[in-house]
Amino acid sequence: MSQPLPVEEPMTSTGDISVILSGKVMIPLHCDDCTESTDICLETLKKHGTYVCEHCASVHSFSDTELKLMRMMLGQAGYHFAL
Ligand SMILES: [Zn+2]
Repeated sequence: MSQPLPVEEPMTSTGDISVILSGKVMIPLHCDDCTESTDICLETLKKHGTYVCEHCASVHSFSDTELKLMRMMLGQAGYHFAL
């Protein structure tokens, strides 16, 4: 699913501002093994379901459930992405 979404939205009168994130946006993910965080782009997470820690090279899986959870949390913060 890669339908183009409008990136810029007209200002709404409610004062709510939503930001549409592209799949290229980097999200910092915390590593359980070395407690450092690694920036991973959303597209990579969605495509591979795994990410590699850039500090200790530990491979972590990222399930659909986690992706949905992250999406929900970002949505609550006013960020949405089209994956
Ligand atoms: Zn690590």
